[in-house]
Amino acid sequence: HVLNTDHPFWQIIRTVPDFPKAGIDFYDITPLLRSHIDAVIDALLAALPEGLMEEVDCLGAVEARGFVFASMLAGRLGKGMILLRKPGKLPPPVANKAYALEYGKDTLEMQNNLPPERVLLVDDILATGGTLTTAYELCQSADHTVVGALVLLDLVDLHGEFPVPVYTVLKA
Ligand code: AMP
Repeated sequence: HVLNTDHPFWQIIRTVPDFPKAGIDFYDITPLLRSHIDAVIDALLAALPEGLMEEVDCLGAVEARGFVFASMLAGRLGKGMILLRKPGKLPPPVANKAYALEYGKDTLEMQNNLPPERVLLVDDILATGGTLTTAYELCQSADHTVVGALVLLDLVDLHGEFPVPVYTVLKA
């Protein structure tokens, strides 16, 4: 993999060892939200191939940090959003799916009464891929077409091949 460890955002991201549990290096992106949010959105847009957004109807936003990026991207692009949420937040009809995390387990939930759309998934970090794979599968089972996933940081060694292209600003 070509890693871009010299990207200026790395000076602002805080790496916290052993959080939320021993052995995990937690990448805290909140300092970037505080001081460089507009530059982050510019960089996310620049990570997308030319013309891709013409094929996308809406952004699939993953709770919670994915909501931040997807909201701002939606505003810039003039696109809507579908929310992939923690369980019990969205009113029915919903579909949900449990999955394993790098540090525990979780469930994502999505409303499944929406018309089929072409979706670009958005989250902050791709680690084991459990979250985005689950988001992908929920979209597929609700008859959406996932065209790709956009993240700020791809931890390339933690996951296998993703079913659709992953677009990223940072790799580690
Ligand atoms: P995963 O399902 O393992 O790909 O993890 C993705 C989700 O967990 C993302 O939404 C991240 O916000 C969070 N996450 C996973 N690993 C880390 C990490 N090392 N540092 C910060 N956030 C992480």
